[in-house]
Amino acid sequence: MATKKKNLKKLVYFFGNKKADGNGSMKEVLGGKGAGLAEMTEIGINVPPGFTISTNVCKIFYDNNKKTPRTVASEIKENLLKLEKLTGKGFGNSKNPLLVSVRSGAMFSMPGMMDTILNLGLNDKTVLGLSKRTNNPRFAWDAYRRFIQMFSDVVLKIDKNLFEEMLEELKAKKDVKHDIDLDDSTLKNLVQNYKKIVKSKTGSEFPQNPLDQLTKAIDAVFLSWNNKRAIFYRKKYNIPSDIGTGVTVQSMVFGNMGEDCGTGVGFTRDPLSGEKELFAEYLLNAQGEDVVAGIRTPKNIKTMQREMRKVHMQIENTAKILERHFHDMQDFEFTIENESLYLLQTRSGKRSGIAAAKIACDMVKERLITKEEAVLRVEPGHLEQFLFPIFNPDDKKKFEVLTKGLAASPGAASGRIALDAQTAVEMNSKGTSVVLVTKETSPDDIHGMAASHGVLTARGGRTSHAAVVGRQMGKVCVVGAEEIKVDLRTRSIKVRDKIIKEGDYISIDGFDGNVYSGDIPVVASEVIQVMQGNMKERASERYSIFSTILKWSDKFRRLKIRTNADVPEDAEVAIKFGAEGIGLCRTEHMFFAEDRIKIMQEMILANSLKDRVVHLDKLLQMQKKDFIGLFTAMNGLPCTIRLLDPPLHEFLPKREDLMLEIKEMEIQGTPLKEINEKRSLLERVEELHEFNPMLGLRGCRLGITMPEITKMQARAIFEAALEVSKRKIKVNPEIMVPLVGMVSEFKFQKNIIQEIAKDVLGAKKISYMIGTMIEVPRATAVANQIAKEAEFFSFGTNDLTQTVFAYSRDDSGKFINTYMDTKVEIEGKSVEILEKDPFTSIDVNGVGEFMKIGLERGKSTRKNLKVGICGEHGGDPNSIDFCHQIGLDYVSCSPFRVPIARLAAARIALKD
Ligand code: PEP
Ligand code: MG
Repeated sequence: MATKKKNLKKLVYFFGNKKADGNGSMKEVLGGKGAGLAEMTEIGINVPPGFTISTNVCKIFYDNNKKTPRTVASEIKENLLKLEKLTGKGFGNSKNPLLVSVRSGAMFSMPGMMDTILNLGLNDKTVLGLSKRTNNPRFAWDAYRRFIQMFSDVVLKIDKNLFEEMLEELKAKKDVKHDIDLDDSTLKNLVQNYKKIVKSKTGSEFPQNPLDQLTKAIDAVFLSWNNKRAIFYRKKYNIPSDIGTGVTVQSMVFGNMGEDCGTGVGFTRDPLSGEKELFAEYLLNAQGEDVVAGIRTPKNIKTMQREMRKVHMQIENTAKILERHFHDMQDFEFTIENESLYLLQTRSGKRSGIAAAKIACDMVKERLITKEEAVLRVEPGHLEQFLFPIFNPDDKKKFEVLTKGLAASPGAASGRIALDAQTAVEMNSKGTSVVLVTKETSPDDIHGMAASHGVLTARGGRTSHAAVVGRQMGKVCVVGAEEIKVDLRTRSIKVRDKIIKEGDYISIDGFDGNVYSGDIPVVASEVIQVMQGNMKERASERYSIFSTILKWSDKFRRLKIRTNADVPEDAEVAIKFGAEGIGLCRTEHMFFAEDRIKIMQEMILANSLKDRVVHLDKLLQMQKKDFIGLFTAMNGLPCTIRLLDPPLHEFLPKREDLMLEIKEMEIQGTPLKEINEKRSLLERVEELHEFNPMLGLRGCRLGITMPEITKMQARAIFEAALEVSKRKIKVNPEIMVPLVGMVSEFKFQKNIIQEIAKDVLGAKKISYMIGTMIEVPRATAVANQIAKEAEFFSFGTNDLTQTVFAYSRDDSGKFINTYMDTKVEIEGKSVEILEKDPFTSIDVNGVGEFMKIGLERGKSTRKNLKVGICGEHGGDPNSIDFCHQIGLDYVSCSPFRVPIARLAAARIALKD
């Protein structure tokens, strides 16, 4: 796609008759829809002509007190004239009226989040012209009543249910099922009644001047950029809020003029499975909104082969042209008017994670894209879907199939039924797994979908917005389960004669569309089954796709990927997922096992050093065994072992519990000796009690005040290393001192470790390193001093975030959500107090700056300083991007995040 010379002043771009002012590369200016239409026009696809008002106008609109400026209005008029000329119709002409659609379209697609108006240009006079011209009064009046309905909803903000209810009542009175069964005089009457609603709600007549209609409609689309659901969607997908939407005004073609007309949505490949076959749905005698809004369940394209063979062939052909041209799976909207095919939109199609990876692999084979492009097409979140649990086929047989819908987004979900979005949010906040069951989902439900595990709808096809958004969110989704009747009055659903109440269990399978009553347990995904050796690699296509994408990723990434693992089993899983070492072994986790916690407590409660050493000796043997297991599993890969870190109270019973126990013992008359033992335990617990344990006796402070702990741990590490290496297994321990803020702290610990190393290893050579965590702001400032002594750094971004922000890790939940939802105006821009949870994604501006300082200063005194990250951020794709950019050597994350991290690291390296 050649970029056209930019005319920065140009605000409106025409397309039609195989020529366009813009093209497909101009998404930023024209929005995805406008750019796609321009490109299709240029490559000769049949597109109704029109023009796109650029996204810059949206910005001007908001800067101009939410009004479209005059200069733009005159450009719009010029383009309207062009459109009239090209179509031979007149805007507002009562004999041969030009009707247009007004649609939104931002640079990033936001399916169904903003508003659209169809059939604009109709009024009391043009409706007659349309009727005469088409010789189809039923169609003309139907178009007019639809227009009034949409315009009233979107522009005049009249409750759309008022119109819906009137229509439903009319259908009931006339005893017909569908809108298309209403005749022209009934529809004409309906229009009069619709207009009465408008008059009573606004005090004015329904606007008759088409230019006035158009101006208002364009403004309304701009305003819809900031409606609630669009804001929610942008936040969820990190779409900037200042890029604005374009508006496309396009001459109408009609899918609702009769049985040789229709409308539909297609994907050039199956967006659920990624299979290479046309996937489309359509309705005859209908308008586009009927399909995407999920109001009627559309037909599968295969039926079109019988109903309209020629058009079916044209659609197949067009799909091929689009894919070949755009080198990606496309999602397109089409209208058939009197057996002629028109394309109304094309964009890169949203797809499930599984489909994204399959399509990427297939397109490499088909030589449509390169391996680099394939890796960039699969997002880290997509790969997660390969790890989602599924239903075990044997378990499925034990449950009753309630009904079947259309599988729309993969995975298996069991949960309690919620019948509306708000209830889903409430149930989810109480920790309940939720399946949202609705008649049809509208984009308004997006927050409910986000809070649900799965989504089940009674109406709508696989191309409805609900399905598209569900797929993108990675929610298990089954749509169009028509047998389900949702009754909001009794808060229940009915399937044939079975009634299930809200809050009861339901299970849905997003691979085959089956719906079960009850709570089917889920089992590991195919990928995990292969890893566990319960399934053959060759038997799983999914495994092969998953591993292909990762194999390619490994070629492109610069960052190494390690894992946070404390026990050999976790380390083994991580290695199967591709981990290249352990970035953090939290040794304290080894002490929480039932048989050890007692010894640990006795060690802490010991009154003398002599006593403490007795207990430490017991722990030494256990810890040594753990390290032998870990070194053996890692087989020579680097293994960062952190010395004891948490405050000691974490190993002791809770103070309040002890108080209660003593009270109960006193009441029950327990012998005094026992009560006294408990009392002295309580005394010691109180001695150790800290008001802010996270900033108290923990980290290296423990090893400095009780050096015997460090000695025991160092001994366990070196003795284990020696034993394992005797078995000809390579070991590569990296001993890490936590919570260091001063070089003196580090040096004190390093001396102890080296002393023990000498004692245990003697003349035997085992390579090891001693380094530190960087998780205290002071450590970043004096990193140059620390790096003279420390051979490696690992950023502990959990504690670094805690200490840089002065937010307690354990209590921040109380305000972080409010911070993310509360806005304040800064330099004319409305921003959230906190844009993201800094404990999830690195706060680049604050914590990130400290990291940069630490890294720079550390490297200034030790050029080959190895630097990684082991806080939770190590598994977060955005944080991985940042770690790559500042030049860390590795990220370390939990075993199941390892594949996600491998892919994220490759994508950022390719984007560099
Ligand atoms: C950290 O602080 O980032 C870290 C990895 O250590 P922990 O979470 O154990 O405090
Ligand atoms: Mg820490």
